[in-house]
Amino acid sequence: MPGHTLFSLSTEQAVLQLRANAEQGLSTVEAVERQKQSGFNQLTEAAPEPAWKRLFRQFQDLVIWILIAAAVISGLLGEWVDTLAILAIVVLNGVIGFLQEQHAELAMSALKKLSAPTAKALRDGVLQSLPARELVPGDIIEIEAGDNVPADVRLLKAFSVSVQEATLTGESTSVEKEADVVLPAETQLGDRRNMVHMGTILTTGKASGMVAAIGMETELGQIAGMLARHELELTPLQKRLAKLGQVLIGVCLAIVALIFALQVMRGGSLLEALLVSVSLAVAAVPEGLPAVVTITLALGLQRMVKRKALVRKLPSVETLGSVSVICSDKTGTLTRNEMTVKAIVTSSKSYQVTGGGYAPRGDFYQTSDSTLVDDEALPKVARTVNPETDLDLRLALKIGAWCNGAQVAPQSDGDGVWQVIGDPTEGALVVAAMKGGLSPSARSGEITYELPFDSNRKIMSVVVREPGGTSLYTKGAPESVLARCDRIHRWGVAEPLSEDDRRRVLASSISLSSQALRVLGVAYGPDPREPGSTDLERELVFCGLVGMIDPPREEVKTAIATCRSAGIRPVMITGDHPATALAIAKQLGLTTGPEHLLAGQELAQMTDADLAGVIHDISVYARTTAEHKLRIVRAWKSRGDVVAMTGDGVNDAPAVRAADIGIAMGITGTDVTKEASDMVLLDDNFASIVSAVEEGRGIYDNIQKALVFLLSCNCGEILLMLGASLLGWPAPLLPIQLLWINLVTDGLPALALSFEPPEPGVMNHPPRQANESILSRKLGIAILFQGLLVGLVGLLAFGLSLRHRPDDVDRARAMAFCVLVYAELFRALGARSQTLTLRQLGFWKNPHLLLAILVSGLLQVSVAIVPFTGRVFDVPPHTWSEWGTIILLALTPLIVVELVKELRQVIHVDHVITPDGVTS
Ligand code: ATP
Repeated sequence: MPGHTLFSLSTEQAVLQLRANAEQGLSTVEAVERQKQSGFNQLTEAAPEPAWKRLFRQFQDLVIWILIAAAVISGLLGEWVDTLAILAIVVLNGVIGFLQEQHAELAMSALKKLSAPTAKALRDGVLQSLPARELVPGDIIEIEAGDNVPADVRLLKAFSVSVQEATLTGESTSVEKEADVVLPAETQLGDRRNMVHMGTILTTGKASGMVAAIGMETELGQIAGMLARHELELTPLQKRLAKLGQVLIGVCLAIVALIFALQVMRGGSLLEALLVSVSLAVAAVPEGLPAVVTITLALGLQRMVKRKALVRKLPSVETLGSVSVICSDKTGTLTRNEMTVKAIVTSSKSYQVTGGGYAPRGDFYQTSDSTLVDDEALPKVARTVNPETDLDLRLALKIGAWCNGAQVAPQSDGDGVWQVIGDPTEGALVVAAMKGGLSPSARSGEITYELPFDSNRKIMSVVVREPGGTSLYTKGAPESVLARCDRIHRWGVAEPLSEDDRRRVLASSISLSSQALRVLGVAYGPDPREPGSTDLERELVFCGLVGMIDPPREEVKTAIATCRSAGIRPVMITGDHPATALAIAKQLGLTTGPEHLLAGQELAQMTDADLAGVIHDISVYARTTAEHKLRIVRAWKSRGDVVAMTGDGVNDAPAVRAADIGIAMGITGTDVTKEASDMVLLDDNFASIVSAVEEGRGIYDNIQKALVFLLSCNCGEILLMLGASLLGWPAPLLPIQLLWINLVTDGLPALALSFEPPEPGVMNHPPRQANESILSRKLGIAILFQGLLVGLVGLLAFGLSLRHRPDDVDRARAMAFCVLVYAELFRALGARSQTLTLRQLGFWKNPHLLLAILVSGLLQVSVAIVPFTGRVFDVPPHTWSEWGTIILLALTPLIVVELVKELRQVIHVDHVITPDGVTS
């Protein structure tokens, strides 16, 4: 296999061997050709569970076995029609369950595709982000700290690269890698220093390399064989519901035993009493519930994706609903991450740059101080300068441009908008340099070494070999750069950096920062003697400050206000300067003053207990490191809060993992953070977190609504049967009728309740306690009350009909049967909210529910009017007056429930917000 021996060749030979091109990458045509031969870069997944097995699984349920027993008993009684009908219902129920599971699985796998890994590859000379599965041998790719290595790769350039290879070699410490070594052919996997392998993670540094092997040809593919299929995790709620189901079975069995005893005492046949009891047991357990929960979760996930939040772990959907603190990065999440250089301050002068976005069009003005002036007003108060002749300015721009991994280019749709590929902070520096006439394409020289940016160090440096000599260029947080400088560049010469200079630089930095600018310092060092040593960045010459704006996202202000009304605490955690952080926080309405700000340095001095003591007062953390984030998460959690925390860099992964909801950035996030996360923000936007919380609350509410609906239906059926037994009447429902209600007509509306949009007031109350039971006492009462209503109308229908025609029990049963079904269908309309009336919710707002009611209603009508089904269910055709009675009685529970809601609003038991925003 040529890919596996590339470590024994030099980089040039390796590139030749795979007919690749280190500068331009493969052409798209060549890549397509290669893909035809090599297939996709993916490990084969184990085959999915076959459909027949999944269908069979639907029948592995206690209830189903009870039903089959009931069918057998019916057969013994000679009731062959009943036997067949029960079996038909069992099959129908199984098929519905199978289809629902299929639907949920499809939804989940569509979501999984969205989170498929990507890779940065050079194709046709342009660096592009493409799905990792499309890589082919010979592709030139770039990898940086935090990336998963997407294939087996021969390194071509590597700066400070170390790799975590535990998946392959079992070695848990990171190993260092380098490009320029040639190894003997017999070198073992763990010692191949010039290769990185699929499934390992780049922990530090930056590299480019050539794909040597893909998919099952990689070392991982050969060792691991097939990937295990990802099983759906059960959420805590699903587990709790399963437990609740068991409790319900216990309660039901007791009631069933009672009814059985009553039936026998009445002198009925033993077998028939047994059959009725068994059917009742089946009827009493809400079999539809697990399916409803799964579908509600799956639908909710799809809705969240539409609102740009991709939930990776199902249990997180529920946790989202109880989030009480959201800790968010600033750059890109609260702000737009669209950087534009606005101000430059050198040792002797202040400048401002006009123009917005990434289009390299703008002018330089010399200003009297660093106070920002509007672009339009600048020509009136300042004079233009020519950056090509102002040498101090030119040097600052040049350092920014060299110390840089970003590219800017016009967007392909040609409407004049420019975009940045890479870090926007660096993109802004490229644009500023271009405005100053320093085009990246025209630069002469090459980067021979790089110390990449890292948010703990807060600086980055490059060693550049130019025709005039070799130098080190550094940029980063002003304090960090200044700390490594002992001279300052003034009027073209390097002079000693006095304490006074330091103070002045820091004062300018604060002045720029408090105008909401992100500020970077730039510096250079003469020819570093030993490139590769980690101690290059010292004795530097300070050149100036560059300030860039990054406007807050418009929608975030509203989202923060929503958080407040929802009892959720928004917190900003940023690596930026406290003054920048505070200025942005004020613009967003996150805080009012510096008393709510804590700087990383101060945080570092605090014990965990101190931190937990003040955490409630702090809304903004600045100049933080990843370790601080972890401490902040822990401190909030120690107070019993449910914390969501965002992260992007490789160092953020521990904090993201420690949070109740770890959130990774979809655009700027590293693979490591994404893998540690519970949720990925597809647009990196804070507002999407708040939308996800709203959906999370809505999903929980919908599950609760379905639960209340189904349990009160079951309760109604039991009370009807119990009531009749106590009154000494014959059983008002036949087993087959009970099964029909429970397995067919109730299920569809319960399912359709999962389409209910979140209620208007859902973000106007504090978060639910994470350990709160889904069945509160209040809901328990609602279930009993509504069950009682349904049971009563059923009993009334049965009693009235019996009184009218005492000999016709079948007709009385038909009446009770139809009243029960229709009453439950109507009541489904009222189940859309526990507090808002149908009038307030809007009758047409959930068309799925209307359709479900229509379908179930028509099925029931067909039972009553089609002679064949009528015979199966023992339902004689209704007279017109019977139809009138049925409709009237069936509507009663809905009307009563709605009236009770109105009454509670009038006497202010429930404070609700209607869809028009009216509070009552
Ligand atoms: P947030 O946590 O809000 O997203 P951040 O992650 O952008 O903030 P960092 O990226 O850690 O914060 O940046 C901290 C500081 O490091 C910035 O204020 C800036 O001075 C400097 N900095 C940011 N990006 C770079 C870069 N690419 N090169 C050099 N210095 C940088």
